[in-house]
Amino acid sequence: MRFALLNGQRVEATPGALGYCPGCNAAMLARCGTKKVWHWAHKGRHHCDHWWENETEWHRDWKNRFFTDWQEVPARDETGELHIADIKTPYDLVIEFQHSAIKSDEVRKRTDFYGQVIWIIDGTRRPTDLTQYERMLSENYPERFDGVDIYTVYCE
Ligand SMILES: [Zn+2]
Repeated sequence: MRFALLNGQRVEATPGALGYCPGCNAAMLARCGTKKVWHWAHKGRHHCDHWWENETEWHRDWKNRFFTDWQEVPARDETGELHIADIKTPYDLVIEFQHSAIKSDEVRKRTDFYGQVIWIIDGTRRPTDLTQYERMLSENYPERFDGVDIYTVYCE
């Protein structure tokens, strides 16, 4: 994750730093290597949000288009299930950035959890990704996506 809590402040990972997860309050360690973007990782256990994707520059570039207060916002449903939205606005609109492959039932589950979600899915990882995602959206979500445009955006 980009942010952990330290003395009530959201702080970024720096070498040797310690912090606490804004979702579950577990201790976090700063991971500041050369291969991955600098990030926070839960100390000695898996991420409290099993939907969480390892962050890449692609995720960070997208998140950084929004206010930092809107980034990595914990959300719980009425059962107490916890997830951390990539972006959540003060109007409860969630934006999820999905870099790795995701199945349509997962998209549905996560959309149902958050209520209203804009999905930004990387369709450029493999040559077939874009056509597969377009097919997934049109075939599996006729009721939800009927009349909704799917935008293909080419980003530099
Ligand atoms: Zn956590």
